[in-house]
Parts: sequence; structure tokens; C-alpha cells
Amino acid sequence: MPALLLTNARLADRPDRPVDVLLDGGRIAAVTPAGAPAPVPVSAVPERVDVDGRTVVPGLWDAHTHLTQWAMVRQRLDVSAATSAAHAAALVRDRLDRAAPPTDGTPLVGYGFRWATWPDDPTAAVLDAVAGDVPVVLLSGDLHSAWASTAGLRFLGIAEHPTGLLREEEWMPASPRIVTVDDAVADALVVDAARAAAARGVVGVVDFEVADNLTAWRRRVAGGWDGLRVRAGVWEQHLDAVLGAGLRHGDPLGEPAGSDLVTQGPLKVISDGSLNTLTAFCFEEYAGVAGPDAHGILNIATDQLAPLMARAHAAGLRCAIHAIGDRANSLALDAFEASGARGSVEHAQLLRPDDVARFAALGVTASVQPEHAMDDRDVAEELWPGRTARAFPLAELRAAGVPLTLGSDAPVAPLDPWVAIASAVTRSRDGRAPWHPEQRIDVRAALEASVDGRPLDLAVGGPADLAVLDGDPLALPASHDLASHDPVALADALRATSVAGTLVAGRWTHHAL
Ligand SMILES: [Zn+2]
Repeated sequence: MPALLLTNARLADRPDRPVDVLLDGGRIAAVTPAGAPAPVPVSAVPERVDVDGRTVVPGLWDAHTHLTQWAMVRQRLDVSAATSAAHAAALVRDRLDRAAPPTDGTPLVGYGFRWATWPDDPTAAVLDAVAGDVPVVLLSGDLHSAWASTAGLRFLGIAEHPTGLLREEEWMPASPRIVTVDDAVADALVVDAARAAAARGVVGVVDFEVADNLTAWRRRVAGGWDGLRVRAGVWEQHLDAVLGAGLRHGDPLGEPAGSDLVTQGPLKVISDGSLNTLTAFCFEEYAGVAGPDAHGILNIATDQLAPLMARAHAAGLRCAIHAIGDRANSLALDAFEASGARGSVEHAQLLRPDDVARFAALGVTASVQPEHAMDDRDVAEELWPGRTARAFPLAELRAAGVPLTLGSDAPVAPLDPWVAIASAVTRSRDGRAPWHPEQRIDVRAALEASVDGRPLDLAVGGPADLAVLDGDPLALPASHDLASHDPVALADALRATSVAGTLVAGRWTHHAL
């Protein structure tokens, strides 16, 4: 990689001090006052790119993704806003007017429709009227049903159907034709998703796809993967393969000569369920729920979790433990303490104050998805009444010195760190008043939690993973003093952050300068 000099750049929160940034050998080689002679690069005269006063920050990371699922979902047409069958069909027609349908015989797939309150019936004929011979299959919001055009039904192997709306047992046997794709198709979609992530300033993700990630990522590296850095998580059922290969945290998954962009990530273990399904494991009962599972459900016995984590830890792996309810979080911390393992709790949605302090004492990272707080604020108030002051307690975690990292859990939320940052900073979406504003963190804190621990003013010697932003997020009104400004405007501004360029190891992965 030839050396590259970014001239006339600004560092975040340093509008008065323009700098030149020299990248060489995949690293940040120097940061010097703009126009000063650059230190002689190791290689030849550098390529120069004038970034024209834009702000250069460390590249962004998404600490929790399911990358293949996201890559597939983002191809689908969003029909969640449809208020009638006719409305959904109009969305399909608009999509077909905008862009050509898939040409490989696969259907146009949409998702998110909820027809319970529709005034009209979703039938194959309604879709046929807008799509003709193009196969169309729309998935319901809960994925338990599908609505297909006549050509879509044919693709699913269903010769005749009275309505075109396939429910539960009718849909489940046909669903693999839509929700699974072969490796070549999946890999191409993941390349595309990585390109889109780079356009938002993303340089790396942790991938918790529920799959044999070692095999999938070795295949992608062999195929020339160069989109993002990826830490590939491993599930318990594939742990032996990873340990058998002698892979430790951070080891490249490719062959020695191959790319080092893809490395071994943590062991992922699911310890409890989720809030919406009343299965996150809590100290107190869910409101209005009685019976043996009224506190939620633990998915792994506590006497199994610590030994499993100890095994991974002894082999040099980190652990990422899914815990949402406060009791599951407490037990996860017990297991970190007992095993000596390093790593993160994924989600950490409801926490007792004592456990916040234990996160800090144990040095366990809280890997949180602020956008989930926006998705779940109403259901949290309903099911965890009186407890939501300690739900998604970002300010408390930050104040306690807990290592904090933000993510999306894509496809649950979009793979866009600016969406997560906006929610962390404002706890506001859709124009609503902030939810528990005392748990907001400021823009600097949110950005610091999104750059994999790198300093915002660029560390010489660090990886040349950078995002070039059209504006400085730390210069937004209210970025330092949240209480004094309109949270809705700030959330909109952060979500709309414009990224002019992204570099991974000194190579452009997005270039719109
Ligand atoms: Zn997840």
C-alpha cells in the first residue's frame, strides 16, 4: 500500500488546528500541523488527498452484528408501513418502477406487513395486479406468515392456493426457499452490505451470525474479502473447531499469506431470552405475569456457564455473553468472576446498581445497542414498571468507568453507527421526548464507544482505519450540553451524519470526496 497524505484535515473537537495525516504501511505514520513538511515516509512520495477541512476520526465499529442476516434483510422491500393490502401492493409497484426485479428467477422479497387491522384482504390477485409475472413474496412482521403473488407461490413450489396468504404450518415448510440462500449468493450480499457500511464510516464489525463462522469467513477471505475488519464470533457448537485450529483472540482466520482483516472473535453464549418475549431473566416478575417463568428464562445453567467460559479463556478466546434481564447480567458477571474470562456482556439492558460497579471492577465491557432502547421503551415501561430508570443505563455505566461499546444487533436495528450514536445521545426517536434523559451520554462519549477504543484525536502508530466526515459531530449544538438543546434536532443531525470517505488499513473502502 503506497503512503497516503490526507491534507487539510481537522480532528474532532479541534476546529482551530488543521492537520495533515500521513498513512503508511497500513498505519497512521504522522499527524502534523497542516502545511508543515511531512516526515519522510518509509515508502515513496505519498499520494495526496486534500480533505478540505473535513473532520477525520477513527473508523467506526459495530460491536454486535449478524452480518449475513443483515445482508439479506437489507435487500428486502420494507412494507411495514402498509395500512392495507392495496397500500402494500402500491409499495411493491413503486419498487418495481424504481428498479428492475431480480433477474435470476428469485422473487422480489418484502417484509414487515401486519394485516390484522387491514380493511382489505391480502390475496395473490392483489399482488398479481401490480407485479404480473414477477414473483413476489412478502414476509409478515413476525415471520410466521407470508403473502405471495401467483408467480411467488409457484417459486415456493405451491401450485394452487385459495388466497395467497400462507399462515404458520403452510408457510414454515416453504420458508427455507426465501430465508436461506446458497453460499455464493450470501457472500455476494455480504460484500454489498460491507460496502454500504463503509459508506457510513464503518471499518469493522463483530459478527455473531448464528452459523459456522470459521468456515464462512475462511471462504470469504479466500475469495478476496477486503470490505471491513471482521471479528468472527464462535458459538459453542463450533468451539472445538476453533480450538482445534489453535486460534486465539485476534488471530487472522485466513491462510498466513492472506488478509488479516478477518480475525477470531469471542465465544458467544446466550444466557437468557429477550424483553418482548418475557424471557429476559429478571430478579422481579414481569408485570401481570404469574407462574414458574414469571421472572423470565435462563438458557444455560449457572454451573455450566463458568466452566464453558473458563475453557475458552484458557485457550486464549474472549467471551461475549448475551444477558438482558438484571438477574442474567448478575449471573454473567458471576461467571466472568469465577472463570477469569475477559470479554463483554451483550445487551446489558437491565442492571442493578451494584452490578454496574461489578462491570467496572471486573473490566467487563458492556456491549449495548442504544437503538433497542428506542424500539422497546414502551414495552419496557409496561413489563418492567418502576425499573426502567436502570434500563439501558448508559450514563451510569460511563460514570462508573465501565468499558462501553455500541452496536446495532443488525438486522434488529440498521447497521449504521450514527443511528446508535443518535439514540445513545438523545434517547429520542420519531420526535418523542427523551426516555430517561438522565441516562444519555454526550456525543464524545458515544463516539468514543464506537471506535474500538481508539483515541478520537488519532494515535500515531495505530491502524490507518479512518472516517472522513463532512461535519464535526462534536461541533453540533448541544453536543457538550445536552440539556440546553432540542433532542429531536440533535438526533436528526447525528443520524444524518455525512461520511465523505472511509479507509481501512490505509485503503479507501468508501471514497466520495
Ligand atoms: Zn444479536
